[in-house]
Amino acid sequence: MEKNLKTLLIKHGVMLKKAYGQNFLTDDSLLAEIVEKAGVTKDDTVLEIGCGAGALTRELANKAKRVVGYEIDTRLKPVLEETVGEFDNVNIVFNDVMKEKLSDVESGLDNDYIMVANLPYYITTPIIMRFLEHAKGIRRMVIMVQEEVALRLCATHGTADYGAITVGINLRGKASIIKRVPREMFSPPPNVDSAVVRIDIEEGKFEGVDFNAVRSVVRCGFSSRRKMLVNNLMNGFKLSRAQAEQSLESASIPLTARGETLSAQDYVNLTSVLKQVVKNLGE
Ligand code: SAM
Repeated sequence: MEKNLKTLLIKHGVMLKKAYGQNFLTDDSLLAEIVEKAGVTKDDTVLEIGCGAGALTRELANKAKRVVGYEIDTRLKPVLEETVGEFDNVNIVFNDVMKEKLSDVESGLDNDYIMVANLPYYITTPIIMRFLEHAKGIRRMVIMVQEEVALRLCATHGTADYGAITVGINLRGKASIIKRVPREMFSPPPNVDSAVVRIDIEEGKFEGVDFNAVRSVVRCGFSSRRKMLVNNLMNGFKLSRAQAEQSLESASIPLTARGETLSAQDYVNLTSVLKQVVKNLGE
């Protein structure tokens, strides 16, 4: 398949662009495994971000009811026409997915859709955060990311990899690494290894919580990792030491805690306490 990819790209005069994160997958069994582990069935609509030469798109088209793909690079139009043009359940939008309104992206998808993507590395975090925070109809994300990012997405609180994005995931669902993928599996190979992460959105998790407010507390919690949470709260929300300590105590959080030692539930508890003390929290 790698040879086919090269032939295809040469035929259409396409030189891959590093700036777009164009590291393509060619191994058919790996592609099949990703789609299988994504749990895609004939009832599912799939959103693929970054179709590339269409290797993953083809595999998805064979398993899903419908695939909506986004691809920024219009030079890949004739390539994709050749690789997935025969499928009438595939629709590719040639645009920068980050420039599309999320509501427009979602209006083209059925509710409960699944995102499956070998994400362009340079916008991995913004894509994940955007869908986690604002997508309404998403049920699952199965995404190839750099291994270092995968470790952050799936980290446990209290570890060095745990960060604001981990809390963001835990507020809406849970993440796990389902496959490690060495760099040699890509064409061309990037400088680092990758991993496929599955994020399952749990409907109703933390129902009724003011997520904007929680997010500002999380941002504050991680604003200076070297400082204790009490200091970050004082600086971030202009609280006196007594107010910050009282808030932590009311949320049953040790006064010596740091941002990375709090679970998503701790952040939710702390937010509800801080809402009594900090005016317009999260607005
Ligand atoms: N899905 C293909 C595969 O697995 O072989 C290609 C994956 S490659 C890592 C990422 C793809 O995302 C590239 O084709 C790149 O052109 C595309 N891309 C990069 N930035 C994008 C953006 N902002 N919107 C849509 N597609 C983008």
